[in-house]
Amino acid sequence: MERFKEVLKNRHEYGRAWKKRTGGKVIGYYEPYMPEEIVYAAGFLPVRLFSRHEPDDVTDRQMYGNCACSREILNQFIKGNFNYVDGLINAEGCQWMLNAFQTTLNVKPELFNHYVFVPDYVDGKTSKDVMRSELDVFKKAMEKWTGKTITDKDLDCVIEVYNTNRRLMRQVYELRRADNPVVLGSEAMTMVLASQVMDKAEMNEMLKDVIAKLEKRQPRKDTGVRLMLVGSPTSDVELEELVESLGANVVIDELCTGSCYFWNEVIPQTDRLMAISLRYLGRPHCALKDNNWRRRPAHIHQLYEDYQAHGVIIAKQIYCHPHGTDNPLIWKVLRERNIPFHYFERDATLPYEETRLRMEAFINMLKPQLVMK
Ligand code: SF4
Repeated sequence: MERFKEVLKNRHEYGRAWKKRTGGKVIGYYEPYMPEEIVYAAGFLPVRLFSRHEPDDVTDRQMYGNCACSREILNQFIKGNFNYVDGLINAEGCQWMLNAFQTTLNVKPELFNHYVFVPDYVDGKTSKDVMRSELDVFKKAMEKWTGKTITDKDLDCVIEVYNTNRRLMRQVYELRRADNPVVLGSEAMTMVLASQVMDKAEMNEMLKDVIAKLEKRQPRKDTGVRLMLVGSPTSDVELEELVESLGANVVIDELCTGSCYFWNEVIPQTDRLMAISLRYLGRPHCALKDNNWRRRPAHIHQLYEDYQAHGVIIAKQIYCHPHGTDNPLIWKVLRERNIPFHYFERDATLPYEETRLRMEAFINMLKPQLVMK
């Protein structure tokens, strides 16, 4: 477990060490709809670009008004933290991340780059064909840049590595359904976040080891109030740790950097690119892609029930328009189903004392449920 914490904390060092060890290249990406399998099949390490709060006196001139996440990624590029990244891929998603992608290329025009269009109507009739053609263009762009053909055999091998990672992470999350889970919310989220910057094959071996240890771990007598976390993407576990310091536990999340990242697998078929397309279009909908056929509210409710949560925390980044526009429906559905929730906004840093008081009040309000169940 410590290794995952260390990788997440020192993720830039991990990326540099991986390059040195393998001689490979590192590809940075912004959105969860980026088909990692194609990058990994080319022999490269896909790394999700996570925000990290550092003094910033540059990005305002380039990206005024964007959310902290997108601005902090640009800030790190300008500061040279991502100098081990050789290329940037953006898959159609959030406007602010697109800004970060384009603005970074203004600053770093030498980087290989590609944009993958992902239909907003992910369940639309033509969406799978559109996505498949986008993946074909992307694969050809990677092959042209690397001078190496990505074969079906390469894709089969990579699909198996990625599906194994998803299966193992589902196993970790299954442990959180127990009355007294042996794994804390901060530990599980650390593993998911680390998996987005790590070599999946390497991580799978470590995960098997950690799961074996977790299954032997004695559950804590009382893990307290069970909470679900919903909202804007995060790249740290500050909130989970704060909740744990108040004697409660985040037992499930519906974050695009959390459970949504690994929830579904690629179902292999002859047409490998179509198989990968269907996996990314079929993942739990992010707030931006939940149009027409609204699947997100039902998915949130299902997870809430399956993990026996007592309440929901909705944490939104300031200026986060995808969740800003989607929240009113989520609040309405939670109210209709008498699911207690607490909504709050955060910026680059978590307003610790204020958030602690809010969480404490919310958790105390839910405590009676512990005796009822
Ligand atoms: S926090 Fe919201 S607005 Fe910012 S990049 Fe993420 S999804 Fe986009």
